[in-house]
Amino acid sequence: MKLINLIFPKKCIICGEFTNVKENDIFCPICRTKYETLKREPCRDCGKAQRNCRCISSKLKYAGISVTQRHVFRFSDELSRTLIYKLKRKNLSALQLFLAKECAELVKEESKGAFRDEFAIVYPPRSKSAIKEYGFDHAHIIASEVAKITGFPLLRAFKRVGGKAQKTLSAAERGQNAEKAFELSDECALTGLSVIIIDDVVTSGSTAARLSELLKQQGVKRVIVVSASKV
Ligand SMILES: [Zn+2]
Ligand SMILES: [Zn+2]
Repeated sequence: MKLINLIFPKKCIICGEFTNVKENDIFCPICRTKYETLKREPCRDCGKAQRNCRCISSKLKYAGISVTQRHVFRFSDELSRTLIYKLKRKNLSALQLFLAKECAELVKEESKGAFRDEFAIVYPPRSKSAIKEYGFDHAHIIASEVAKITGFPLLRAFKRVGGKAQKTLSAAERGQNAEKAFELSDECALTGLSVIIIDDVVTSGSTAARLSELLKQQGVKRVIVVSASKV
């Protein structure tokens, strides 16, 4: 055991238990089991485990571009909600790295056999008001970790324009807001690329659909949406 673990024993990120949290894990054994169960939970539409499900969110179905969608776990029970809540509000590098690794596994599956220069990684940047409130942009942090792990370049393809903070809006308003909230940032060379959008939670898919539309305008041939969680 490392000295640092004796001085600061690791706590489970979900329940706060100190017992037996192994090095390189963020969960206690009980929460780890719950997390693995969550990933294996069958999708209500295709019947596959969440982690293997490729169902497309409603708004993304009509993006007018080839879309693949993957996610690690469903946004459903308390454990999944706690993970995402902490991701958005607490700047915990262990959690960010853990979710980045999980997303990177899906990225690797979708990009198998491809050359490094065929792919790029992008993300929907957090709003300025949320960055001001919480002090960090978890979307940027996770996307850059996924880029490091996979070796694909990270592009700051999008910027926020106006738009209200998503959390203050109803589900219907969120969809409309997302359509206005993002624009392409400075010109990125995206023509002919397959672009991987990394996101925390995909709900209706309106944000990913807006980003896909912008990517299509830039000549992107395929979009792969990879999120930690999906509603
Ligand atoms: Zn626990
Ligand atoms: Zn499915």
